Amino acid sequence: MKKLFQQTASHLKKSTARETKVTLYPASCVMLEGSGLALARIGGRKVLVEAAKTEGDLSADFQGRVTTATGLAVKQCDLCHAHADALRRALTWTAPISLRDRQTTIGCGDRLGRATPGHIRAVRQFGVAPVLAQQSIRELNLTGRSYQNVVDDVTFLVFQEGYQDGFGADGDHLKTLADINVAVDAGMAMITLDLSETMLAAAENWDAARIEAAFAELPQAEQTRVLAAYADRSFDVEGATIAIPALEAKRCAVMYLKAMDFALEVYRLLQKRRGNAFDLEISIDETKAPTLPAHHLFIIKELLHRHITVSSLAPRFIGEFQKAVDYAGDLAEFERQFAVHCGIARNHGNYKVSIHSGSDKLSAYPVIGKYTRHRVHVKTAGTSWLEAVRTVADCAPSVYRDVHRKALAFFPEALKYYHVTPKLDNIPALDSVKDADLPALMDQADARQVLHVTYGGILRDPTIGPRFFAALDAGEDRYYEYLERHFVRHLTALGLPAAK
Ligand SMILES: [Zn+2]
Repeated sequence: MKKLFQQTASHLKKSTARETKVTLYPASCVMLEGSGLALARIGGRKVLVEAAKTEGDLSADFQGRVTTATGLAVKQCDLCHAHADALRRALTWTAPISLRDRQTTIGCGDRLGRATPGHIRAVRQFGVAPVLAQQSIRELNLTGRSYQNVVDDVTFLVFQEGYQDGFGADGDHLKTLADINVAVDAGMAMITLDLSETMLAAAENWDAARIEAAFAELPQAEQTRVLAAYADRSFDVEGATIAIPALEAKRCAVMYLKAMDFALEVYRLLQKRRGNAFDLEISIDETKAPTLPAHHLFIIKELLHRHITVSSLAPRFIGEFQKAVDYAGDLAEFERQFAVHCGIARNHGNYKVSIHSGSDKLSAYPVIGKYTRHRVHVKTAGTSWLEAVRTVADCAPSVYRDVHRKALAFFPEALKYYHVTPKLDNIPALDSVKDADLPALMDQADARQVLHVTYGGILRDPTIGPRFFAALDAGEDRYYEYLERHFVRHLTALGLPAAK
């Protein structure tokens, strides 16, 4: 097998211009039935390469230009959707799967379709299962990608890295059946159902009269059931007592019952389309008020009442989980409430507690690791993008300077999509920063936040976008190193033991 790939590499070198660099990614080299398959970089371009003794031995599933030499036929194939599909059929470990039976999972949102090898190198050290493809509709709109692009990019990079331990793909923060269908079409095996719009969040602050009136509108049978199940009852969860006064039970019914019925619709859709090979996450984190333990308990009991299997659930925790910076809030109170949330999850099917905007919340990680006992899903979204920016600052300072200026100019627009509160005055004036100090701007909280949310403007800029990608691709190995270091830091802070 080794010999075939050595021959292939030298064949490719001979058939390309002398100054063009040719690399076969060593971890990608695998044998199919009568041929070998690998991922190669030829100059600035990645291709799938299939090689065999004769042209007749090459698979019909991959299409491309064939060149031959004595005893060798080599085909170069584009990284297109048809070939991603063919790869997933030939090597099933390049397709996303359900991770519901895996203990610890980490969401590695990758806005650029380039970060996967760095993620894999980090999770391998801890035996954690990665959700390598994870994007929200908001991110797709801002980057001009589709769910199909997202999954296909990951398929090729999982192949590049030869990672066969299984990974997830998360259609993140989806709110409609139409969007969920698109994500499932693309092969996403995890759906994060965002209930922030189907629930009636405003009822959180309604007075008793208004709650009573709204509750009286519900079907009589539902009223009776809810009152019997919750009103003036208290529930013991690992030593903590969660009391639900009658008014609070009615409030929960008004706030959540419609959303629970929608969750059932989504669950049935997923079962119809994927059997049991999916993960459903319920997310109520994008609301103004923190999720009270009583509400979390009500929600999971109602989901179980509808026979919905939940893989993970994301409450809104107290304090601020702002993008790209550490946890801000009362850590002692966070710990007290977090312990109860974890107890609820353990006692109701042992689903994972999901931490959104989980990157960089390092001061809260010991608490998160301790109370979940590592049965947890931690999502990170823009943090891999920031490591890409760091790489460009390191490898191509002049490109970074344009990126930085664009980020500041685009920031007011980005505030339409994201809630962050950096102090712009704290960001050093760009002209005063030496090239060698540019990467360290990614350690400065205010600069981090600005760059975190302005990716849409940067990537879609007709001059800056292509230069950014070219610089990042030239610094590919450096990018993987930065990512690995960054994710290892997170997984270590969770208290995870090293893989055996
Ligand atoms: Zn979220």
